[in-house]
Amino acid sequence: MQNKMLQKKLVSIIVPVYNEEKNIALFHKKLIRVIDSLGYSFEVIYVNDGSSDKSLLEIEKVSGSDSRVKYIDFSRNFGKEIATTCGINNCQGDACIMIDADLQHSVELIPDFLKKWEGGSEVVIGIRKGYRREDFVKKIGSMLFYKIIRSITDFEMIPNATDFRLIDRIVIDEFNRFKETNRMTRALIDWLGFRRSYIYFEVGVRQNGKSNYTFWKLFRLAMNGFVSLSFLPLKLAGYLGIAITLTSGTFGLYILISKYLFGSYFAGDFTGSEQLAVLTVFLVGIILVSLGLIALYIANIHDEVIGRPMYVVRRKKLNSEKS
Ligand code: UDP
Ligand code: MG
Repeated sequence: MQNKMLQKKLVSIIVPVYNEEKNIALFHKKLIRVIDSLGYSFEVIYVNDGSSDKSLLEIEKVSGSDSRVKYIDFSRNFGKEIATTCGINNCQGDACIMIDADLQHSVELIPDFLKKWEGGSEVVIGIRKGYRREDFVKKIGSMLFYKIIRSITDFEMIPNATDFRLIDRIVIDEFNRFKETNRMTRALIDWLGFRRSYIYFEVGVRQNGKSNYTFWKLFRLAMNGFVSLSFLPLKLAGYLGIAITLTSGTFGLYILISKYLFGSYFAGDFTGSEQLAVLTVFLVGIILVSLGLIALYIANIHDEVIGRPMYVVRRKKLNSEKS
């Protein structure tokens, strides 16, 4: 009540949506129940990431009944990272909160995020408290990913951190300066730094539909993370090359000296051509691995150099007045 005379702070809620027709109405109902009780103004931005079901229709429905709802409709599926980026690019809030539409990120935690923000945090990160058993492969993968990323980058990425986060306006403005199209939104936010705090929460069960993140999609995302955040994989090829040249050089020298200086050499039961074959195959493997890594970087450079737009919008409804 005492806020009546003051301009309320505006908070943007950003929701990436891909085939969530069964979740949107429910999600929005739950969201409203929470935000209506808070002393802030809100805008809710749904980014329809090329859904092939009736998600857009559902979004239009909620937007018809709630003037705080804005939406952006992509021309096709660009992926969650891009969808959240687009939401951040287009939001007007003094802070924004990114949240999944499938109710796995509990809307009831929004007040906690805002409290931490008011307490001076510029980035508030939701940390997942544990996995359900069926996500075993994802768990191992994510553990590995953070182990590797930790050892090859020089900024801190927190394990089990999710995309459920709040960022302050200063962070939003800095985030909007990133140009890369191959991106991992949460890694970029982590890269930015700023004052952070954490909220630990249990990831809920997906309400309807199924997860869009298959093992391979996550694997691609992880590879992208490595490549865009570190040069170590690229250098690895070089290190491997040096190690192999040194060992095979020593080995070759040993053969030459023992064979031509002493007239014989010990090489087990393998014939010369068998040894040669093994060695060749081994080296070919290494070369292929190195080429693969280099290709990843080149693909990344290619994507950034041609400078395609990050996303294409079919239609958007973004009335700009602050209420
Ligand atoms: N999502 C999206 N584009 C995609 C895949 C997913 O916008 O290509 C959205 C999806 O609608 C949901 C959120 O991103 O709101 C998280 O997706 P999902 O539940 O599939 O991922 P998981 O919870 O398994 O990490
Ligand atoms: Mg989910």
